[in-house]
Parts: sequence; structure tokens; C-alpha cells
Amino acid sequence: MAEIEIRGVTKRYPDGTVAIRDLSLEVGAGELMILVGPSGCGKSTALRMVAGLEPITEGELLIGGQLVNDRPPKERDIAMVFQNYALYPHMTVERNMGFALTVAKVPKAAVAERVLEAARILDLEEHLGRRPGQLSGGQRQRVAMGRAIVRDPKAFLMDEPLSNLDAKLRVQMRVEIAQLQRRLGTTTLYVTHDQTEAMTLGDRVAVLRGGELQQVATPAQLYDTP
Ligand code: ADP
Ligand code: ADP
Repeated sequence: MAEIEIRGVTKRYPDGTVAIRDLSLEVGAGELMILVGPSGCGKSTALRMVAGLEPITEGELLIGGQLVNDRPPKERDIAMVFQNYALYPHMTVERNMGFALTVAKVPKAAVAERVLEAARILDLEEHLGRRPGQLSGGQRQRVAMGRAIVRDPKAFLMDEPLSNLDAKLRVQMRVEIAQLQRRLGTTTLYVTHDQTEAMTLGDRVAVLRGGELQQVATPAQLYDTP
């Protein structure tokens, strides 16, 4: 079953720019789908529409089989991970990871439990009392992942989550994200302009160009395409 279904979606901005044209794409349950293409091809727009941060001009968007066109982000049961992690600098790692749950009035003990579980998965247990400024880039990236994990969402949406890291760390985190995603089995739509990242990370890769979908294939199929 498809967890995320984008059906004939078009996005026209108020200034007339058509950023996405008649996009149809299904992300299967547990699948890691990469949306790849050059800058300006509409990747962020597509992701923001799925997240509910940008209204859809035409078409339908379903998450978990439910039509969500008119649902606000909070009611879509998805978690976003951005390139600028947007961690709260004055809060500890523990508070950063649990914040969304606290706001959602999840009881304190349950928040602590879920944060600790995520910290174990992400190897952050030793750092729960630190602030983001006291962490390495890779650790900060993991905290950003942790904030998404604790909510146990139907899907992760990632917008160039590694683009602020240096080349070596980027390769390392790429491997970590792939392992984590497979371990958790959470449906993921991952945006990048980096073809290597797309080919090494994705179960399938959707190639976007000028707002239009060109191809959806596994990395192996793409390698075989002349
Ligand atoms: P990408 O993420 O692939 O770099 P974007 O989704 O950011 O692409 O942008 C796709 C196209 O839509 C670009 O031509 C961009 O200039 C345009 N665009 C993005 N946001 C807006 C906006 N708020 N208003 C008008 N045009 C926009
Ligand atoms: P990215 O390439 O990472 O998506 P951009 O620098 O293209 O980021 O866009 C940053 C912000 O500016 C986004 O919120 C986007 O909606 C907005 N934006 C991008 N292009 C335009 C545009 N042509 N007109 C108005 N806003 C835009």
C-alpha cells in the first residue's frame, strides 16, 4: 500500500510561477523515496505541499489513504527534517527532542521514555544534557532526526538534511540515515540535488526537472539506463 500518494498535483504560485506540473508519485509503506533534481526544479515545493506548508493548486494528496489537501500540517502525522536543523539553542538535547511532544501535552514520563529510546537508537544518550552548541555537526543532525523519530509519524519528509555538513560527515550520515530508516521502517520522502546521495540512499529515485517528473526507478535501473 502507498503511504504517500501524490495524484496529478500542480502548484502555481501567486506570481504565476508553475513550480510543479501534474505530478503523480506514490511512496510505498516503509519505502525510502528520493526526489532528486537540479536547483529550482520544484523539489522543496513538492515536499512542502506534502507537509501542508504550501497549498496545492490542483490535484490530490493522500497520506495513509486519507485525503489531506485541506488538513493543516499538524493533522498530517508526518515529521520534517530540514537542512538547517532549527534546533533550539537554549534547550538541552533532551528538551529539543521532546519539545513537540510536550507541546502536544504528552505526559512527562512518556516524553522522557520516548526521548531516551530515540537517544539510544541515535547514540545520543551521553549527550542528552548538552545544548546544541556543544555538539558536533553530525550529533546535531542526529538530534534533528531524534525530534522526528519521537513523534512516531506515518512518514518522514527530509529536505536536503545533510547539505550543511562537510563532505566526509555527509557520507557518514548518509549511511546512518539509510540504516535508521530501514530499522524503523518509516516511509520517507527525501529531497536532494545530489545524484550520488540519491543513488546510494534510495529504494527508488524520482527525477524531477522543470517541475515535471521525468522518471521513477530503482538506483539499479537508473544505472542501466544509457
Ligand atoms: P528546488 O527545491 O528544486 O530548488 P523550489 O521548489 O524551491 O525548487 O522552486 C521551484 C520553482 O518555484 C523555482 O522556479 C522557484 O523560483 C519558484 N518558487 C519557489 N517558491 C516560490 C514562491 N514562494 N513564489 C514564487 N515562486 C516560487
Ligand atoms: P531552496 O532552493 O533550498 O528551496 P530557495 O533559496 O530557493 O531555497 O528558497 C528559499 C525561500 O524563498 C523559500 O521559502 C521559497 O518559497 C522562497 N522563494 C524561492 N524562490 C522564490 C521566488 N521566485 N519568489 C518568491 N519566493 C521565492
